[in-house]
Amino acid sequence: MFVFKKIVALQKYLNNSDSPQSIGFIPTMGALHKGHLSLIEKAKEQNNIIVVSIFVNPTQFDNQEDLVKYPRTEENDLKLLESIGCDVVFTPSSEEIYGTNLASTSFNFDGLEHQMEGKFRDGHFDGVGTIVQRLFEIVKPTNAYFGEKDFQQLQIIKKMVEKNNIPVNIVGCEIYREEDGLAMSSRNTRLTQEYRQAAPFIYKTLKKAKKKFKNKSAKKVVKWVKKKFKKHPLLKLEYFEIADEKTLQSIKKKEKGNAYRGFIAVFAGEIRLIDNIAL
Ligand code: AMP
Repeated sequence: MFVFKKIVALQKYLNNSDSPQSIGFIPTMGALHKGHLSLIEKAKEQNNIIVVSIFVNPTQFDNQEDLVKYPRTEENDLKLLESIGCDVVFTPSSEEIYGTNLASTSFNFDGLEHQMEGKFRDGHFDGVGTIVQRLFEIVKPTNAYFGEKDFQQLQIIKKMVEKNNIPVNIVGCEIYREEDGLAMSSRNTRLTQEYRQAAPFIYKTLKKAKKKFKNKSAKKVVKWVKKKFKKHPLLKLEYFEIADEKTLQSIKKKEKGNAYRGFIAVFAGEIRLIDNIAL
């Protein structure tokens, strides 16, 4: 496994490989867990060279404390990546990516960016668009893998690729969960024991909401979820929305032929957790 910090060295390595390459790329912010590894496993089935980037992207954080406290476990990440057969890891510094201009570009994702996470995390998707576009320019992957855990992000990346004709195939990957249902996330390691024990309530509630959505209106299901969280002693609901998978707009009425998802953001103390479920 090769680890590169510099763009020039990474590109030299990728350009020098003599056999025709299909590059599978998985951008991450590190603190790797089995959710990340499931993306890599999928990429291994479909490509002959696997590139993983580890970069905690400052411009996508709306909350400076979250950025400072974001878990960083590079030594362990590299061990994990080596053990599952990753070929190349890219671990650039902030200067390598942004130079002296630590700022994001402003994107138009046809309104996807104004829904849900976009309402609560100012500038987040401009930061995501900026880093992913930059990484695509550097790595030039054949396929790039993104988790449905961040479903809105996945749809936004697909939109960015489509609108800018970026020659990469975006592959969405299922949410990988702990045994108790909590969606795996690097931020889970920051939960206190009390909040960690409470957190599976999120997915349990999503599953019940899915059941209810079969014969109840979206409005009734949303109301029910809000009530459940109001009664919860620890977890604070930021939003729960039922939205169309493509437009990400909250729905008022179910329509045949459309696919819907329930999207949720919850505070477990100061840790913000997100999850979603296909309805
Ligand atoms: P992050 O390191 O949090 O930026 O995540 C890197 C990639 O891994 C993103 O595409 C995430 O959506 C994906 N990912 C994170 N957690 C999970 C999970 N539990 N299941 C599937 N994909 C995930």
